[in-house]
Amino acid sequence: MSTILIVDDSDTSRRQIIKILEEADIFDLYLEAEDGAKGLKSLTEIGGGIDVVVCDVNMPVMDGYNFLRMVRAKEGLRHIPVIMVTAETDVEEIVRAFDLGASDYITKPITPSIFKVRLNNMLRIKQLQDQLMMQKDLMEVMATTDPLTQIPNIRYFRQWLDSEFARSTRYGNDLTLIMIDIDHFKKINDTYGHPQGDRVLKEMAVILKEEMRKIDIVARYGGEEFVIALPQTGCFGGEIAAMRVRERVENHRFGGFKDPVTITTSLGICCLTDNPEADPQKLIDEADQALYRAKRSGRNRVEAASNCKRAAKTG
Ligand code: GH3
Ligand code: MG
Ligand code: MG
Repeated sequence: MSTILIVDDSDTSRRQIIKILEEADIFDLYLEAEDGAKGLKSLTEIGGGIDVVVCDVNMPVMDGYNFLRMVRAKEGLRHIPVIMVTAETDVEEIVRAFDLGASDYITKPITPSIFKVRLNNMLRIKQLQDQLMMQKDLMEVMATTDPLTQIPNIRYFRQWLDSEFARSTRYGNDLTLIMIDIDHFKKINDTYGHPQGDRVLKEMAVILKEEMRKIDIVARYGGEEFVIALPQTGCFGGEIAAMRVRERVENHRFGGFKDPVTITTSLGICCLTDNPEADPQKLIDEADQALYRAKRSGRNRVEAASNCKRAAKTG
C-alpha cells in the first residue's frame, strides 16, 4: 500500500497530477493539501504512512520552500521524499529546492512518462530506506534486550544507570539498586535440565517486573543474576521492595516442575543517599557485596550495603 500527498493550491493541478498517477497505477491512496501549512499538518498526523510528497512552489499561507524546510527539520518526517514541482525554465528554483532538501523535481507542464519513472525511483529509495530503518530499530532492540527473558540486558542497564545516576545526583534524588541472584540455580539445571532452568529465568523476569513500578528498571545482569534500579527511592523503600521480591519468589509455584519446587533468591541493596561518594559502578559493586553477604549468611535473604543505615540488616 503506497500513499502520496499532493500539496498544491491549484485544484486543477492536483486533479491533473492525480489523473496521471491513476493511469500509471502507482499509488493506492491520494491525499491532498491546498498549501504548505495544511500539507505539514497532514504529514504530522500520518507522516509514517506517506511514501512520497509532491509539492508546488508558489502557494499561499506557506510556500513550497518553507514547507520543505519544516519537513526536513522534523525528526519523524525528514526521511520522506519530497518532489518539488517547478517551472521548466527556472534553474535557480530547482537549485534552491535541492539546497533545502528536495529529493527530486519535476517541471511544469508535467510529462506523464517522466513523472512516472521519477516517482517509481523515489518509491524504490523510500522502500529501501524503510527497510534500513526497520533493521536499525531491530538491531537496537537486539543490542539492548536479553534474548531469553526479553528484558533489558546489562549493556542497556549500564547506559540507563549512567544517565539516571547523573539526574539523581543533580536533583538530589535518591536511587536504589537491588542485585538479585537465584540460590543454588546450578542444582535446578542439573536436576531438571537446562531448558527448565531457562524457564525459571523467564518466569523470574516476569515476577520481578510485576513487583516493580513502571519507572523502575529490571534487567538481566548475567546468568541467573538480575538487577533492579529504583529511581527516587532510598534504602528504606528499596528494602521493602527487595523483601517483597524475596517472599514472592519463595512462595511462587514455578511452571514446568512435576512436583512443587521452592526457589529462593538472595538480594543485596545499596542506595545513593547513604553512599554520596559512589559512582554508578561503585553502587553496583556495593549492592553486589551486600548480595554476597546475603549468600554467606544463609541465602534467601536481603542484605544492605555497609553504609546503608536506614535498612535493616536482615531480610
Ligand atoms: P548460589 O546460590 O551460590 O548462587 O549458587 P548457584 O548454583 O546459583 O550459582 P552458580 O554461580 O554456581 O551457578 C549459576 C548457574 O547458572 C550455572 C550456569 O550454568 C547457570 N546459568 C547461567 N546462565 C544460564 C542460562 O541462561 N540458562 C540456564 N538454564 N542456566 C544458566
Ligand atoms: Mg545463584
Ligand atoms: Mg550467580
